[in-house]
Amino acid sequence: MVIMKTIQIVKKKTMEQEQDERKDKGVIIMKAGKVMRVDGLHDVFIVRSENNDNILYTVENDTCTCPDFQRRQYYCKHMYATKYYIALCEESV
Ligand SMILES: [Zn+2]
Repeated sequence: MVIMKTIQIVKKKTMEQEQDERKDKGVIIMKAGKVMRVDGLHDVFIVRSENNDNILYTVENDTCTCPDFQRRQYYCKHMYATKYYIALCEESV
């Protein structure tokens, strides 16, 4: 029982760490200028892949077209990058 509990805690921590990593990568992606707002569409963003500039993902209405989001249906680094991008834009207005 004690071992089971320990494993659960470790697993939970890892998932939170993974999510923190997505946030960190979101900042990196945003700072690298990889987030672009689609002209005329306020809530649609194109985000370049962190590792491959030839790959583009679409972030729209809290969804993303990347494999990470498709698999988990939860905030990916591109969505964080978009969030930070919006926050930055609103700050500078
Ligand atoms: Zn994504």
